[in-house]
Amino acid sequence: MSHFTEEQKMMQQMVRRLVNEKVAPRAAEIDETDEFPWDIVKVFGENGLLNLVLPEEYGGVNANNTTLCIVIEEIAKVSPACGLTVFTTQALQNVLVRGGNDEQKKRFYPKFESGDKICAFVLTEPNAGSDAGSIQTRAILDGGNYIFNGNKNFITTGEVADYYLVFAMTQPGKRAKGMSAFIVEKGTEGFSFGKKENKMGLRGSPTVELIFEDAKVPKENLLGEEGQGWKILTEYGNLMRTWGAASTSLGIAEGALAYATGYAKERTQFGKPIAAFQAIQFMLADMAILTEASKSLILKASWTIDKETEPFFKIEPMVSMAKCFTTDTAMKVTTDAVQILGGYGYTKEYPVERMMRDAKGVQIFDGTNQIQRVIIARNLIGKLK
Ligand SMILES: Cc1cc2nc3c(=O)[nH]c(=O)nc-3n(C[C@H](O)[C@H](O)[C@H](O)COP(=O)(O)OP(=O)(O)OC[C@H]3O[C@@H](n4cnc5c(N)ncnc54)[C@H](O)[C@@H]3O)c2cc1C
Repeated sequence: MSHFTEEQKMMQQMVRRLVNEKVAPRAAEIDETDEFPWDIVKVFGENGLLNLVLPEEYGGVNANNTTLCIVIEEIAKVSPACGLTVFTTQALQNVLVRGGNDEQKKRFYPKFESGDKICAFVLTEPNAGSDAGSIQTRAILDGGNYIFNGNKNFITTGEVADYYLVFAMTQPGKRAKGMSAFIVEKGTEGFSFGKKENKMGLRGSPTVELIFEDAKVPKENLLGEEGQGWKILTEYGNLMRTWGAASTSLGIAEGALAYATGYAKERTQFGKPIAAFQAIQFMLADMAILTEASKSLILKASWTIDKETEPFFKIEPMVSMAKCFTTDTAMKVTTDAVQILGGYGYTKEYPVERMMRDAKGVQIFDGTNQIQRVIIARNLIGKLK
């Protein structure tokens, strides 16, 4: 991709090499066992993938939005589940870089410098998924601490993380206006873990319940000011949909397309490779069109974010289009990849059924595709009289 900087091209090559060498041989096993791949995360840490957005003096590369897209796409071609750890870790650090104050940066950056810390993004609750403004976890100021009470669920890297970006109500009943964002450390008294989900896909990436029972979080860990949680979520957090769900899905689609193409050239029926049949050729062509269009949408949104010249209301629908289109593409492309492999595609001997299960999850997290369409339509129509 000619628009990438030299550093970005080098990063792409490095991550591609790394995942082919270290992650590809483990991907099926990670899915089968559903065990968190500590060995892979160690490799990611040693290669600087767990503190990309930090300044260089803290081990990072000041990664911009596009660099994060490149990294996640490369990992997801092989194992989207492994990419999720980089995704949630960079989600917290990215919000800290963009929304933290000087004191918080001074205090937290050195903690991430070693490159081996994992972070989680904590919003969803049992009764508040798409309707994020209705979260009920409370954080009430009492002296030098906020006292947290409530339950979160579906949290990626749940119990394996070290730091948590938690959204909670400092003024309950005020919906978005009463929401605030905090960094919570593992080991905080009153903060524990509950059920781990047994998921269809993205296995090996733990999705876990978090429990806060009178957990004391230092008031200095509030990001921005009280009541700015919604702004932090939408204006900083939601940009991650480009390098989170969207780039994950692009990687899945590219991985499935490459596998199905290779298979179609090898598999012989009626005396010729199935790739000689127009029905297969057109399916592959459609898969390629959707995948290429997904890449364009992601890069347009990402470059707009990186330029920092456009107002948020212009960026938001572009991000939602990239998330929605790319995740729907991954679902379609992986389903067609299974079809191209026929009966073999439906077995665990081949990776495309895993890719199809993984693709389903990405249509749901990072804001469902219905919610992305709500955002896009709202931006088109505006407020009705
Ligand atoms: C693999 C995975 C990882 C996740 N990781 C995290 C994480 O790290 N942190 C975190 O905070 N959350 C995480 N989540 C939670 C995820 O963000 C939520 O599942 C998602 O936002 C949807 O919420 P819900 O499951 O409660 O569904 P609901 O909100 O109950 O939605 C159910 C259905 O109704 C539709 N719907 C809801 N409202 C509307 C509307 N207004 N218009 C049209 N349709 C609507 C939805 O699109 C969906 O199809 C994860 C989920 C999964 C599956």
